[in-house]
Formats: sequence, structure tokens, C-alpha cells
Amino acid sequence: KVRVRFAPSPTGPLHIGGVRTALFNYLFAKKHGGDFLLRIEDTDQNRYVEGAEAYIIEALNWLKIPYNEGPGKEGNCGPYRQSERKHIYRKYADDLIESGNAYYAFDTAEELDAHRKDHEEKGKTFIYNWHNRQKLKNSLTLSKEETQKKIDAGEEFVIRFKSPEKENLHLNDIIRGEMHVDTSILDDKVLFKSDGMPTYHLANIVDDHLMEITHVIRGEEWLPSLALHILLYRAFGWTAPQFAHLPLILKPTGNGKLSKRDGDKMGFPVFPLQWQPAEGEMFSGYREDGYLPEAVINMLAFLGWNPGTEQEIFSLKDLVNTFELERVHKAGAKFDPEKTKWFQHQYLQKMDNSALASQFADLLKNKNIEASQNLESIVSLLKERATFMEDLWEQGSFFFETPNSYDPKAAEKAFKDETSILLNEVVSILNEIDDFSAATISEKIKGWITSENIGFGKVMMPLRLALVGEMKGPDVFDILSILGKKESIFRIERAIA
Ligand code: GLU
Repeated sequence: KVRVRFAPSPTGPLHIGGVRTALFNYLFAKKHGGDFLLRIEDTDQNRYVEGAEAYIIEALNWLKIPYNEGPGKEGNCGPYRQSERKHIYRKYADDLIESGNAYYAFDTAEELDAHRKDHEEKGKTFIYNWHNRQKLKNSLTLSKEETQKKIDAGEEFVIRFKSPEKENLHLNDIIRGEMHVDTSILDDKVLFKSDGMPTYHLANIVDDHLMEITHVIRGEEWLPSLALHILLYRAFGWTAPQFAHLPLILKPTGNGKLSKRDGDKMGFPVFPLQWQPAEGEMFSGYREDGYLPEAVINMLAFLGWNPGTEQEIFSLKDLVNTFELERVHKAGAKFDPEKTKWFQHQYLQKMDNSALASQFADLLKNKNIEASQNLESIVSLLKERATFMEDLWEQGSFFFETPNSYDPKAAEKAFKDETSILLNEVVSILNEIDDFSAATISEKIKGWITSENIGFGKVMMPLRLALVGEMKGPDVFDILSILGKKESIFRIERAIA
């Protein structure tokens, strides 16, 4: 059974790359009838940010990509927070020492620094591996007794992986294909820290194994760790999952990586929309900016993947059916804020009028505006020009508020000497209409304009301005019909008073 996981470190708000990773994992799992797990990788206490986990879960909920197992949804492989699994990891580090794949190292930070400097002076780089480890303070150079003595004396140590000397390691990635790494350049990564916590590498491999993960789908920034991870699986004697490294997400200019913000501004956004907002600037998230989750999902799916057809609009269900890791490309994917808006516009158009009306009603309520009963007709007239809910208000506030001024430029053009006579005539025509439908109003007014040979602009321009206050909005006859006879006449008379 396919089992994949999203394994964020709770170090700040979920950024766009993280959400994309979650989505691709979700799509792959659902496509193959598998499980999607959430595992919180919180072994690095220094980078832990309060609230980040809740934020991640809220974001997944908002996007409607639920996990099958994870915090709050215990399955057979819990707990799903690494800090609650602390007791598990040491044994595995010890196993590797036992099998000769890892060793204790006692070098202090100062000592390592000194080695680094020393090498630099000679124009070399210091790597803690086969090249240097013989000269350093570790259980490979010390006798068993000496090692034990140091441990018993409470000397600080780390456990390092003993990477192979010279091997042409073969790696495979679903997206990138075959790769080779010369192991002589790898360093002996720390697996277990002096604070009693495993490092990311150890905890990640142990957990993927224990949680029976079949495919690891993660960002390209983890590609450099792949060799170590494959070596760790081998050292444990475990079958490695398959790997797929998703392409970087680039700035809109294509110039560099879209970067994750420091995680110090918690609490408000669901995901930052901006890339690299200035330091200290509050950044708002997609949710706060009025995006629909469906639009965000569709946009995210195209960050590194495409269906190979012209189709651009995909519901989550369509994506589950169509998504293939083989169609994810290697090249960086440019983040395009304009395209993101385009998706949002498409999804707003797809909302049916009653749903739109009820959300619009909430927005009006927040503005202390009493919603009239014909909200559905109003939103149906306005939505074409709207990308966000807020645009409906922008476009149509005049339905709810009688204009008390007129755009001066438009007024100069529209209000002429004969205007009050003409609009008075309009009022009399409107007064005669019983059903007050757009069709009837249109028929009567157009009929009058034509028979009197007046010229449409002379009537329609001042009429629109009287009703709206500006030269904008949908069809004038629709506006009249929605405003109703009384309010329409009130606005017209006020304009010519
Ligand atoms: N905790 C890692 C992260 O924050 C997970 C990387 C992985 O998926 O292996 O991205």
C-alpha cells in the first residue's frame, strides 16, 4: 500500500513550497488509494516555533487536503510528533555503532573550529570523514576502554555516521532519474546530538521506516541528503522508499529561490502571498487576501507539474485522477502572482450565485450593511468583473448606498442643459411600469428614445451617473430593476434637483 508523509519542521508559517509538497504527497497517495501522513519533525528545539504546528494543520484543513494519520489522528504508527518519539531513536544510533556504521565523536566545537581554520590556512576544506577522522577524537581512534571512560565521565559526545571511503553510489529519483555520488566527498553527518536528541537525518529515516513510508516526496533542497539517506537505509539493512524531489519554486523573475520567511510573525496568515516581504513587514496570507482554497490548490498543482494538455482548471478530484509524479519536471517552477489571481478569478466565476450571495452577505454584515433580498441577482451581475469577494463590494456598493456625489469628470460630460427634462421623462415612464423587470424597463425607455429620436447617450449616461455616481457597473436596466421603482426614482430626482 502506498504510504507517503508530509514531514514539516514547525519552525514558522507554512510557506508555499511546503504546501506544494503537502499537496503533491496528498495527490499521489489518493491517486494510488494510499495513506497520507503528517509527521511533525520537531527535534531541533532551537528552531521550534510555538503555534507553527497548529498553523500547518489549519492550513491543510483550509485547503481540504486532510491527512489519514498524524497529530490528532492516531494510526498504528504514532505518535506523529518526533519530540514524543525521543526514546525511540537512541537505540538505532547504537545499532549503527554496533554494526560499525557509526561512531562516538568527542571533539568539541572549539576543536573542530581550530581544525577548520588550520585547513583553510593551507587552502583546504576540512571534512569530518575518512580523510580526517583518524586524526580526531572519536571511538575509531580511541580504544574501547578509553571511549567508555569518556562516556562514563560524562564527556559530551555526538554519534556520527561512518560514510564509506570511495564508492560510486548509485541513486535513483522518480523525477530526476539516475544519479551517482562519489562517497569520498560526503562528511560523517551527526546522527545523534549531545543534547540527547537525534538529528533530522536519523529521526527522518527511522520514522520513515517505522511508519512504512513507500515514497518520499519532498523539496529539491533535500536532494543533497539523499546519498546519506540511502546509505543509512543500507546500514540498517532496510529497504529504502522511492524518492521524488520536487523542483525549486523560483521568484516571479526566475531569479533565485522563493524564500521562506523567518517564522517570527505567527498568528495571522495562513500562507504568505508575498515572496520575501521586507523585514518586519506584516504579510498576509492567501486566506486573508480572499483566495478560495480551490484556486490555491489549482495554482500549487502547476508549480512543477503539468498535465501535458491545454487544460488548466483542475478540481482536487481532477488532480487526483490526473496527477503523475513522472510528469513533474526537474526545472525550477516560477511562482506567478498574476496567474494565481487568474485562477482565483476562474474559481469565483464557478461559484454558484447562491453560495456567492451568502458569502457576500457576510461581507456586507461586516460592513454593517443591510443585505437586500435580491443579493443573488446582484452578485450574478457583478461577478464577471470580480476576482475577490471584496471586488463585488468595490463594483456594487451603489446597490446598497445611494450615491451622494457624482464623479465630476463624468458629470461634466453627462449632465447637460436638457438632462433634467429627459430624466424627468424617464421618471414618468418608470412610474408607469408595473412589473419593473429589466426587460420591460428597457423596452419602454428604448422605445421612447427611439421614437423621440433623442440619442441614447444623452439619456443613458446621466441616468447611469444618477444611479451609480460613477460611469461603472452592469447594465443600467438591470440596475434599475434591482434598485426598484422607488429607489430608482429617488436617485434620479436627486440628481436633477
Ligand atoms: N523536516 C524536513 C522539512 O522540514 C522534512 C524533509 C523530508 O521530507 O525528508 O522539510
